[in-house]
Amino acid sequence: MGILESLKTLLFGKHDVSEGKKDEKPEPAAQKTEPVHVAEKPADVIVEKKASIIQEPKEEKPVAEKITVGHVHMSGCTGCLVSFADNYEGLLTILDKYADLVYCLTLADVRHIPEMDVALVEGSVCIQDHLAVEEIIETRKNAKIVVALGACACYGNITRFCRGGQQNQPQHESYLPIGDLIDVDVYIPGCAPTPQQIRNVCVMAYLLLKGNDEQKALAGAYLTPLMNLAKAGTEACGCDIMTQVINQGLCMGCGSCAAACPVRAISMEYGKPQIERDLCIKCGACYAQCPRSFFSFDVVNQYEAIMDAIDGAMQP
Ligand code: SF4
Ligand code: SF4
Repeated sequence: MGILESLKTLLFGKHDVSEGKKDEKPEPAAQKTEPVHVAEKPADVIVEKKASIIQEPKEEKPVAEKITVGHVHMSGCTGCLVSFADNYEGLLTILDKYADLVYCLTLADVRHIPEMDVALVEGSVCIQDHLAVEEIIETRKNAKIVVALGACACYGNITRFCRGGQQNQPQHESYLPIGDLIDVDVYIPGCAPTPQQIRNVCVMAYLLLKGNDEQKALAGAYLTPLMNLAKAGTEACGCDIMTQVINQGLCMGCGSCAAACPVRAISMEYGKPQIERDLCIKCGACYAQCPRSFFSFDVVNQYEAIMDAIDGAMQP
């Protein structure tokens, strides 16, 4: 029997019996009249095998204790998701122990936004794209905690410069950070945000929802500054360190802002940051990284306990 015929047999469960028996002794006429039973045997075997696979006991995992997490892709470049994946084994530990990924169009075949504990939303929203507007509203309805993942979702970032006029959707000209359309609970700024920060937020969201009282307090301390960022607004610019840090006499010349800028729009001159605003993509990374922009004693005082909790949680 040729490969093509074998495939037909597997797919349709029948083949020409006479062809397979060319070299065999002639069968009695009575047996030749029942080819259907013989032809169905391969299919029967497959069904039996499938049944035996299904009946095998599954590995038991404490899935009931996991939180559910979804990745919602708005107008982003997928760089934020890549950064999440850049946790390598850490991502597998998170998925194994703490979170079921219930929605992620890039990685899984769930087509509609389900209910979830945490929605990681990447990208801004094109308000001429009605589907995108519906999706972000649906996300808010279905998620307990909405996280703006990355600068586009937090502040618009590079999509702030969109002016439309490009084929094949020239009318797509206005992009807003998700906080302009829905309430956002947590910001993870950065373009892209660091893998560690995404990992930390996932672990802390787990502790907040499933931990004991002590763990909940720790998670609250870690997440509060990121929640405050979400409350502070949806606009960001390199000018923020100028108006809110340098002009307030708070800058200590540490250079963190220059190191954080993804497009090198900031250089340190005479110990102070100089910003080339034409280069700034409005990601907000400089302000978020500046140690004098927002300072949480809650976090600093509990830094060691927080890092111990995260390190312990990430042991495979
Ligand atoms: S924040 Fe940066 S990495 Fe994330 S979607 Fe926007 S452009 Fe891409
Ligand atoms: S990060 Fe450092 S150098 Fe930049 S504005 Fe803040 S304190 Fe000044």
